[in-house]
Amino acid sequence: MIRPGLRRQYFRPLKKRSLLLLRLVAIVFAVLLFCEFLIYYLVIFRCHWPEVKTPASDGKRATLDPVLKAMFLADTHLLGEVQGHWLDKLRREWQMERAFQTALWLLQPEVVFILGDIFDEGKWSSAQAWADDVARFQKMFRHPSHVQLKVVAGNHDIGFHYAMSTYTVKRFEKVFNSERLFSWKGVNFVMVNSIALEGDSCVICSEAEAELIEISHRLNCSQQQEHRSSRCRNRQPLPMSAPVLLQHYPLYRRSDANCSGEDAAPPEERNIPFKEKYDVLSRQASQKLLWWLRPRLVLSGHTHSACEVLHEGGLPELSIPSFSWRNRNNPSFVMGSITSSDYALSKCYLPLENTVLTTYCGAAGILVVLTLIHFELLASPFLFGWNLLRKHKTR
Ligand SMILES: [Zn+2]
Repeated sequence: MIRPGLRRQYFRPLKKRSLLLLRLVAIVFAVLLFCEFLIYYLVIFRCHWPEVKTPASDGKRATLDPVLKAMFLADTHLLGEVQGHWLDKLRREWQMERAFQTALWLLQPEVVFILGDIFDEGKWSSAQAWADDVARFQKMFRHPSHVQLKVVAGNHDIGFHYAMSTYTVKRFEKVFNSERLFSWKGVNFVMVNSIALEGDSCVICSEAEAELIEISHRLNCSQQQEHRSSRCRNRQPLPMSAPVLLQHYPLYRRSDANCSGEDAAPPEERNIPFKEKYDVLSRQASQKLLWWLRPRLVLSGHTHSACEVLHEGGLPELSIPSFSWRNRNNPSFVMGSITSSDYALSKCYLPLENTVLTTYCGAAGILVVLTLIHFELLASPFLFGWNLLRKHKTR
């Protein structure tokens, strides 16, 4: 038989211990909820669509061009089966999925463009690995049917020019569509396969150039009185507006030396000269693109860092940094309000990796302290100090 006093003595520490356990579980749950879920809402909530200066603001022209809300991101680099560690994969993909889904929910873009290097190993992955990667991409970047998702190919998706094959290009285009021209709300976007602009007349490159020349003709037909000419008659008319060029490689620039801002390349890397056809498009290919398409804005990826470049003739280009925390502490995406005649861009930063890690470390510290206090391992130095203080006071 157990005496009642003994039972109370036995149960008191047990009750205390389950209280501690409850506290620890609550802290872990709260921190996980914050770092893996709420932080995305808190951070992305601060982003707003930029306002386009419409001609109507001068009070004369009351006709407002419709504004297209477009979101641009680049270099998601979903890890593959060869080089990706499962934990790295799990973590990065969860982060990107949360960031993307939260942005969709809060900002409601109408179209999302991903500027290449969606996958890390598309260039060499087996058919099975490719199917797995695509399935994960489609889950992460799921979107309602009224939101359009457009993608351009990157060197990691289909291989650098020397490794690119009809097989890798076709399997990419089978998933992501091969359309090069996309027009909506009076805005024309040209999506370039920049890896096929090697200029060596290989089959893929010749086809790509032919497609661009055809688009060039269609754009000319829309912009000039030429639409009356016989050449334009059989072509579907396009909105009368200079296109926005979307590609993975940036147009040719010497280096990132003139780039600034918190997410530009680190200072020690900025002066490293870029290699044509590897880091940036060749001079010749860049010239051709500008000549054929006469864009009003260029958006590109590939460098993983931000940069604003002003090309000859005042053409602006924006390099969009990587969307993955694997490549940056401060990933971001670009929000564009675009009309047929104007545009405004703003950047939306995602939660900093450092903030998340510091929060986890802080929480781990609190857990340790609580546990030590519970087992009275921390109490003794505190009590010792307290007693010492009291002794001093009484003297
Ligand atoms: Zn790339």
